[in-house]
Amino acid sequence: MNAGILWVVATPIGNLEDLSPRAQRILREVSVIAAEDTRHSKPLLAHAGIGTPLVALHEHNEHEAVAPLLQRLQAGEHVALISDAGTPLVSDPGFRLVRAARKHGIRVSTAPGACAAIAALSIAGLPSDRFVFEGFLPAKAAARRRRLRELSGETRTLVIYESAHRILECCGDLCELFGAQREACLLRELTKLHETALGDTLQAIRARLEEDLNQQRGEFVFVVAGAVEDDDGRLVEGRRIHALLREELPPAQAARLAAAISGAPRRALYGD
Ligand code: SAM
Repeated sequence: MNAGILWVVATPIGNLEDLSPRAQRILREVSVIAAEDTRHSKPLLAHAGIGTPLVALHEHNEHEAVAPLLQRLQAGEHVALISDAGTPLVSDPGFRLVRAARKHGIRVSTAPGACAAIAALSIAGLPSDRFVFEGFLPAKAAARRRRLRELSGETRTLVIYESAHRILECCGDLCELFGAQREACLLRELTKLHETALGDTLQAIRARLEEDLNQQRGEFVFVVAGAVEDDDGRLVEGRRIHALLREELPPAQAARLAAAISGAPRRALYGD
C-alpha cells in the first residue's frame, strides 16, 4: 500500500485572507489535521469551510503524538500539520513529526505561506541578502543579555521574535549591547489592523515604545542591522572576544583585553 503524504501547511499570521487556495484544498482533502491548538485553529478552518478532523500536536505532547500519526501515514492516509500562526516548525512545534516521517521514508511536502520573520524582513528596509533568524531570545534577563552579547559582532541582519511583555526590556538590552545608534526596524501586528513599523535607530525605537504604550501591544518582529564590519574584521573579532570576556570580567577590563587581542580600538568595544 502507498504511504500518505505529510503536508506542512502555513496558515495566516493575522489576516485570514492569507490562507492560500491551495492550502485550503489540502486541508480539506487530508484525513486529519495535526494542529498546535485545536481550539485556536477551529475558527480559521470554519471560516474557510473546512471540516477535517483535528488532533493536537503541541510542544508538550509532540513526543507521544508522532507515533499514531506515523501509523496513519504508513496506512496510506494524508496528514496536514499546522500551527497557531504562520509556518509550522518556525518557532513552532512539528520538527519531531517531520523528522520521523522522513526517517520512515514518508513523503513530506509543503503548502508555503505566511511567516512573520520573512514578512518582517521583506518590509524592514535593512539588508536582506543574508540574515540570521534568532527566533525567541531567552526569557530570563541574564541569559538574554548573554545571547545578545554573543550576537553583537554579527554582521548579518538579525531577525528576532519578541512578545509584548518583554519588548521594552529587549529593546533596552539591544541599545546597551549593540549600541544605541544601531539601525533597526520593529514590526508590529503584521497583516492586522494595527500593523506598524518603527524603523530608526534602536535609541529612537525605544523612545517611541516608552512614549506610546500602544506601541508595546501585540506581536513583534525585531529586525536589527548587522554590525558594520571594518576592513580587516578587527572590530567584529574584538566584539566577539569582548562578549566572551564579559562573562567573566568587569566590562572595562574585558574591553581592554579584547582590544589588545583583536587590535580593535578599545572605545569601539566599550561604551558605544
Ligand atoms: N510560526 C510563526 C511564523 O511563521 O512566523 C511564528 C510562531 S511564534 C510562536 C509567534 C511569534 O511570531 C510572535 O511572538 C511574534 O514574535 C511573531 N509573530 C507572529 N505573528 C505576527 C504578526 N502578525 N506580527 C508580528 N509578529 C508576529
